[in-house]
Amino acid sequence: VIALVATGCGRGGTAEPAGSDGAAEPGGQGQIVGVAMPTQQSERWIADGDNVKQQLEDMGYTVDLQYANDDIPTQVSQIENMISSGAEALIIASIDGTTLTDVLQQAGDADIPVIAYDRLINGTENVDYYTTFDNYQVGVQQATSLLTGLGVLDENGEETGETGPFNVELFAGSPDDNNATFFWNGAMDTLQPYMDEGVLEVPSGQTEFEQAAILRWLPATAQARMENLLTVIGDTQLDGVLSPYDGLSIGIISALTSGGYATDALPVITGQDAEVGSVQSIIAGEQYSTIFKDTRLLAEQAVAMVDALMHGEEPEVNDTESYDNGNKIVPSYLLESTIVTIDNYEEVLVESGYYTEDEL
Ligand code: BGC
Repeated sequence: VIALVATGCGRGGTAEPAGSDGAAEPGGQGQIVGVAMPTQQSERWIADGDNVKQQLEDMGYTVDLQYANDDIPTQVSQIENMISSGAEALIIASIDGTTLTDVLQQAGDADIPVIAYDRLINGTENVDYYTTFDNYQVGVQQATSLLTGLGVLDENGEETGETGPFNVELFAGSPDDNNATFFWNGAMDTLQPYMDEGVLEVPSGQTEFEQAAILRWLPATAQARMENLLTVIGDTQLDGVLSPYDGLSIGIISALTSGGYATDALPVITGQDAEVGSVQSIIAGEQYSTIFKDTRLLAEQAVAMVDALMHGEEPEVNDTESYDNGNKIVPSYLLESTIVTIDNYEEVLVESGYYTEDEL
């Protein structure tokens, strides 16, 4: 850290000697970038870590990539280690967005810029930029695909006149992940009018975020909640389940099939992340939809932010109002996501090179 301050690297400093024309050369010169990811239990974070590492290394940076096994103290100590071993920028996908205040104070004191990756970091001024997908819109897309799967909307998003009533149950993500309420709000703003009109009914009556939330996004917890819901609603047949993440959808499907639903007669089930197992489930006609978030593009944004900061430049942002972390509005770059169903997975996932046909 002392060497870092002495060489003037870090937020606002020039990270390398100026080129012959006086301008900084693009790319890194071996500076260490710490990359903290939450867990390897979900494919998306493995892809994120791999993409960020590869892209930074291609630009000449040295990468310290760590996964915290969804354990908060592990993530805190990994970030502490990154700081003490000379990281000059940090990219962090937090487990719990509120638990990094102390360690990020150390980063702030050492002038190490911090980029929140995918999940906002709350309650600290020591987060400089944020890159993510438009999380509210992800929730809108999840709800829209649920309505399309039920036949309430057509493929152009127009109402078909179908009035149901359809029985749906609702799941939300981890309450300590700032994204979870954005997904929920986007979804509920879309579904609420249909609930008010009686087109959608929630037989369990569990329509509050707190009732629907699944701590740490754990598939087994979603499975257990779905089993409980089936007990609560008795013989009522479900037509749809709003699920905010593919891992939860897998748990939900297990509970439904053990509870007597045939795999070819499952409710319309949504998801997020286009993980391989869930795309296969979509192809098999079990899960209905997922939301594809291209982790290659998210990695590119985070890497571009680091590279700009290392050259004393301002990273590009496209949103300066949506993400208030309690201390400040964090300037953000939001990317767009895509609804994937059996009808477009080839085009969106295979033709774009995200997966090969063989992987699916
Ligand atoms: C991410 C989602 C992911 C979820 C569970 C969220 O913060 O934005 O893409 O499904 O975490 O890992």
